Amino acid sequence: MSIDSIRTHIKGRVIEPGDANYDDARAVFVGGFDRHPSMIVRPADASDVAAAIALAQENGLELAVRSGGHSTMGFGVSEGGLVIDLRDMRDIAIDGKERTAWAGGGITAGAYTASAHAQGFATGFGDTASVGVSGLALGGGDGYLSRKFGLSIDELLAAELVTADGAILQIDGSSSPDLFWAIRGGGGNFGVVTRFKFRLHEVDAVFGGMLMLPATPQVIESFVAEAAGAADELSTIANVMPAPPLPFVSAEHRGKLVILTQMVYAGVPAEGERAVAPLRALGPLVDKLRPMPYPQIYAPEDPNFHPMGANRVMFLDAVDREAAETIVDHLERSEARFRVCQIRVLGGAIARVRSDATAYAHRSRRVMVNVTAVFGDPKEAPRYRAWAEEFRIALQKGQPGAYVNFLADDGPARIREAYPSDTWDRLRAVKRRYDPTNLFRLNQNVPPAAAAS
Ligand SMILES: Cc1cc2nc3c(=O)[nH]c(=O)nc-3n(C[C@H](O)[C@H](O)[C@H](O)COP(=O)(O)OP(=O)(O)OC[C@H]3O[C@@H](n4cnc5c(N)ncnc54)[C@H](O)[C@@H]3O)c2cc1C
Repeated sequence: MSIDSIRTHIKGRVIEPGDANYDDARAVFVGGFDRHPSMIVRPADASDVAAAIALAQENGLELAVRSGGHSTMGFGVSEGGLVIDLRDMRDIAIDGKERTAWAGGGITAGAYTASAHAQGFATGFGDTASVGVSGLALGGGDGYLSRKFGLSIDELLAAELVTADGAILQIDGSSSPDLFWAIRGGGGNFGVVTRFKFRLHEVDAVFGGMLMLPATPQVIESFVAEAAGAADELSTIANVMPAPPLPFVSAEHRGKLVILTQMVYAGVPAEGERAVAPLRALGPLVDKLRPMPYPQIYAPEDPNFHPMGANRVMFLDAVDREAAETIVDHLERSEARFRVCQIRVLGGAIARVRSDATAYAHRSRRVMVNVTAVFGDPKEAPRYRAWAEEFRIALQKGQPGAYVNFLADDGPARIREAYPSDTWDRLRAVKRRYDPTNLFRLNQNVPPAAAAS
């Protein structure tokens, strides 16, 4: 197919340099990626995706696949290549009887959650409404329902996927066990997922919201220990960071380190009140925990916010006093205008899935930590990268492990850390079968296994 003929071949849209909406269409969430693709295809269905893949193959164009556009590495846009942007494929069909939903590959976590909530259901995604379900769920998907129900990949029942050769496959655990295993944690390495089928749970009102605590090492250690020992219904995400200048933060705390935690108790709200009592006993500076409709856990977002950041992710098995002191020390020493150490307490349903059941294999790790410095000038990047890397090494203490969706410019050795050896070898074999030329390489890349001699 020629570049000129694609417009007549597909039902969706094609955007090229010079088109009025080109600059908006090529923008991604993370700042600092000013890439100019030669073409953006916004498919209407899987056959449009197949046509765009053929175009990229035949013309040797680098291929970017974009859903919510939140890749930390700006992988959703290519310099000079072709972008398949799924944002127009965001339909959702809910089957309340079967408790499943089919959702288009371009839907965001927030849009899915709002539609499912309207019928009294939810599927767990991450902490931010504008993140794409696709990128999130292909890497794992940790959020406010994870300890209760598992990661987003644990809710995935089937998918429609277009492979590098243009084949449109309907896959699930019975029909394509290897491929279905690989897309649950292996990221966008295996094809373009155009539709997902997820399990739904009856989740309506929950108990949750925000609790702001003082960020002393003692409180950080106690918070993690209490959250890890809480009922599985309670999932927490704690951000140790300078207190923002928001109306509910008193002047004396603004800019000082606090633990800003968000949490959801996915069960009877009155029981949630009891479950959070040990956290409330840590002496909150602000307490906004309350019964609420589940979608309210998603904070409103500023569409013009495009932060540039340096970040590093790792797994820990606990946050003891020494680790908590390391966290406070590194955050206090940084001069970044914004810096955060995000602590996600895992366990619960995440840990009840066998480590070889999906390509996300770090099932037994108890805590995920993500450290980030946000800066305003790209020239500052090396300095803050060095800070994040040093912070990681100090906390991780040689215990390997990474979550692929929060990897940044870490490099190949850390992509390997996201996957234990058996998982890595199996992913490479699946990659060889479905993408032998590594067409899908603008990602945290799993290269195809070498051909047997
Ligand atoms: C503000 C913010 C909050 C976050 N919160 C969480 C969180 O709470 N929990 C969590 O687990 N992660 C979280 N993440 C990480 C997030 O899961 C990843 O950045 C994810 O890749 C974003 O997906 P996306 O579709 O928005 O991004 P995109 O940039 O559109 O896609 C990222 C990559 O995913 C692949 N991809 C996307 N769509 C498809 C598709 N349909 N088919 C095949 N491959 C595809 C491609 O390789 C693409 O380059 C967060 C990230 C940010 C920036």
